[in-house]
Amino acid sequence: MKVTVVGAGAMGSLFGAMLAEAGNDVWLYDVWLDHVQTISQNGLQIEREGKTRTVRVKATADPLQIGRAELVIIFVKSSRTNSAAETAQIIAGSDGSVMTLQNGMGNADVIAEFIEPEQIVAGTTSHGATLLGPGSIRHAGCGPTTIGAWCQTEAGRQRAGQLAEFFNRAGIETESVADVRSVVWNKLLINIGINAITALTHIKNGQILDLEITRELSRAAVLEAISVAQAENIKVQDDAIERVFKVAEATALNRSSMGQDVDNRRQTEIAAINGFIVREAKRFGLAAPVNFALTALIETLQSHYK
Ligand code: NAD
Repeated sequence: MKVTVVGAGAMGSLFGAMLAEAGNDVWLYDVWLDHVQTISQNGLQIEREGKTRTVRVKATADPLQIGRAELVIIFVKSSRTNSAAETAQIIAGSDGSVMTLQNGMGNADVIAEFIEPEQIVAGTTSHGATLLGPGSIRHAGCGPTTIGAWCQTEAGRQRAGQLAEFFNRAGIETESVADVRSVVWNKLLINIGINAITALTHIKNGQILDLEITRELSRAAVLEAISVAQAENIKVQDDAIERVFKVAEATALNRSSMGQDVDNRRQTEIAAINGFIVREAKRFGLAAPVNFALTALIETLQSHYK
């Protein structure tokens, strides 16, 4: 299959490389020139458990060089989804599939402004990756990927099922589900309970659990989000709060992605995480003061980076 990754940073390069290693025709597209030039010249270096391998894969900063692809995977940070979707529209045309496994909520809806909803497949992944430098990433962790059609039509479900099989054949463990919105929402709840709090306080994920007052803050943010989810008729897992704490425990020594963004003075995905809850709560006439405070603090912090 011809595949193009739009946004070939840590996760985009990883998925592109895994699909290329399985024999697919893969292009990595990124606006970061140094990165695509390094990959074109030397291949992509992937570090995994102390060993490094080189994967030969095509990379470009010119989308017109790619032509059409049957699958476009968008892996930019959520604040860039709009321009990535514009590029995806050129590459996917009117029948290619466009997939998002990005964190946060709203990415698929932004993509749907450019691509027919029937072409969109969304989901989550438990793989983890970090950018080490131009042309170089660390594959930090493996885990299942869950996808589903953003639009509940038979054609959409078939498309998602075929893409899940395609990923599994490439060794990317993937399940296709009917209700992918609730899967994306349940991952959002984890990010809501961990990301902004760790980013603002410079703690590691596990330290959320150290003090009752920090647990209370995390719980309050997640409970507000659950109220919004219920207003949207989203099926939330009964043990949503415990799951947040379990993830914090399982990733105790990690800095959250938002924590890493703040550490590196990069713009965060706050607007698609806690900020999304604030906007949606307003729409439903619900209160979300904790998510408002977390959003306002992160936005203030990231607009004053030195
Ligand atoms: P990243 O910053 O490493 O990569 C994003 C890439 O997009 C960068 O290389 C950047 O140059 C590129 N880019 C920006 N604007 C672009 C544009 N208009 N067109 C093409 N490329 C553009 O980010 P990441 O860590 O790979 O995360 C990507 C998404 O995946 C985020 O939504 C993140 O939350 C999610 N995610 C990340 C992980 C992880 O472990 N890193 C795990 C699960 C989900």
